[in-house]
Amino acid sequence: MTDKKKLRPDTITAHAGRDPRRFDGAVNTPVYRASTVLFPDVASYESRNPDDYKVMRYGIYGTPTTFALEEAVAQLEGGHAAVALPSGLAAIVAALAAFAHSGAHILIADSVYQPTRNFCDKRLRTQGVEVEYYDPALGAAIAGLIRPNTTAVFCEAPGSLSFEMQDIPAIAAAAHARGVAVLADTTWGTPYFFRAFEHGVDISIHAGTKYISGHSDVMLGVVVTNERYWLELRRAVADYGYCVSPDDCYLALRGLRTIGVRMRQQQQSALTIARWLQARPEVLRVLYPALEGDPGHAIWKRDFSGAASLFGVILKPASERAVAALIDALSLFGIGSSWGGFESLAIRADPGRYRSATSWNPGGPLLRLHIGLEDPADLMADLEQGFAQMKLAG
Ligand SMILES: *Cc1c(COP(=O)(O)O)cnc(C)c1O
Repeated sequence: MTDKKKLRPDTITAHAGRDPRRFDGAVNTPVYRASTVLFPDVASYESRNPDDYKVMRYGIYGTPTTFALEEAVAQLEGGHAAVALPSGLAAIVAALAAFAHSGAHILIADSVYQPTRNFCDKRLRTQGVEVEYYDPALGAAIAGLIRPNTTAVFCEAPGSLSFEMQDIPAIAAAAHARGVAVLADTTWGTPYFFRAFEHGVDISIHAGTKYISGHSDVMLGVVVTNERYWLELRRAVADYGYCVSPDDCYLALRGLRTIGVRMRQQQQSALTIARWLQARPEVLRVLYPALEGDPGHAIWKRDFSGAASLFGVILKPASERAVAALIDALSLFGIGSSWGGFESLAIRADPGRYRSATSWNPGGPLLRLHIGLEDPADLMADLEQGFAQMKLAG
């Protein structure tokens, strides 16, 4: 028997979450649609175990399609178990809610995804939770912010839009010394390139909308936990009533099968384009931990086995009109939210507006690029003519 724990990531993505013998030989776990699940007799119906989230009980807790996706993501990341949620944001909300009783103190990295901050400010704070933002550059020094009522430290590395790395193992060691849980939005690292549990994360949160699904047509969140926090987290998801359609789980699992080849290819193209951009006269610097000169490079190299194809480009000071002209001139980069699909995207952003514990002044406008599976030579040619339009717009 092959030891499943020893399998490498590409083998796991090909084999996890499927059992052809159970499904008449079908390679893929079929789409199981169910709300009502019937039981053979009163005794078995009445003895349902509320904490057994991996058997068919009622549609809200999932069907074999849901379980297949959850099992595959958990196995790839090396966690104890996973639960699927209807969006990445719902996954963040459910995970935070599990630690957010009135009077609790929660530490949030100042560089987090803006909707995470929005939820903390508008919802958690009004429900009596003390939300404190911390400098993402703090490593072990996070210990100085932990109070007797601190229940969770929330990390995101690299940070949304600013791409600052965090020393998650150092933060986790300090948090665990005080019995505090470590939650991390690991969407950029993905379960493929970042083994969260080996770096001290207790609860790993993914926007499955991004690389896991990978084709820009599914909204999904996944929360993976270690054994210690599994039931606490899974019960919170159940209490909020979150569930995901089996069709979306099927599509996400189909996407996950190819996450390795997609991400390796996209990483390679992203590095090619990032290096080319570094040499462009219009560019001040590129924010991408996978680049040797990036301030977060050493941590990235230590903790990650690869990089997402999403990075920031700080342009030399230019008018808003000129930056818009650059983006509008691109024909191969779409303009829109999200990332992690097979196609390239470009937007401008200003994460400095959302900071409170620290300030962030990069010295020029920020362009965020997602590099898809197109040929990088075509993407660079597209960017080149975009820069020409930017110059014309002055
Ligand atoms: C997109 C994103 C999310 C939210 O995912 P949705 O599925 O769009 O709700 C959360 N965190 C990060 C870092 C993201 O980029």
